[in-house]
Amino acid sequence: MRVAVYPGSFDPIHFGHMDIAQRSAALFDKLIVAVYDRPSKSLLFSTEERVALARSVFKGVDYIEVQAYSGLTVEFARSVGAHVLVRGLRVISDFELEYQMALTNRQLSPEMDTICLMTRQEHAFLSASVVKEVFMAGGNVSQMVHPLVESALARKRECSEVNRDAIRIVSLGND
Ligand code: ADP
Repeated sequence: MRVAVYPGSFDPIHFGHMDIAQRSAALFDKLIVAVYDRPSKSLLFSTEERVALARSVFKGVDYIEVQAYSGLTVEFARSVGAHVLVRGLRVISDFELEYQMALTNRQLSPEMDTICLMTRQEHAFLSASVVKEVFMAGGNVSQMVHPLVESALARKRECSEVNRDAIRIVSLGND
């Protein structure tokens, strides 16, 4: 069975990620969307939330599995019997990073290969950061994410508004 791993932060998963996963799944028997638990960037969603969202958008797609992982990506890939990592490319600057990561991963695990799929034109400027920024500023993200992800973003925004109000009340109380 040909198994591949698609690693990333998926904070949150968006249409660009989903397109890469669906297209690469056509090349393998099984694709594991691997949610990295501690990326160096700051996160909006917890690991459990990112996994749950990715699982919910791929519900019913039996050749795509979602798992959380920590530590080295190549070790995780090895543990699930995968020799291929899948990544997506949007712009030239993605290539430099992906190239560097692919060579590093190859050095760590000589049997590991990386396959990069080009994004679709309509997703070329789509990133999880753009989704979060647009949504938190009140913009419409229905062209960027699955409705379930949009609902999860709305819950986060509500929480942050409640927290902001609570902080305001506390600081007024301290005046
Ligand atoms: P990372 O934290 O490694 O950047 P992300 O969750 O942002 O992980 O993305 C995981 C993978 O998905 C990366 O290979 C990234 O280039 C790719 N990707 C992100 N956004 C898009 C997009 N709009 N189109 C295609 N690939 C994308």
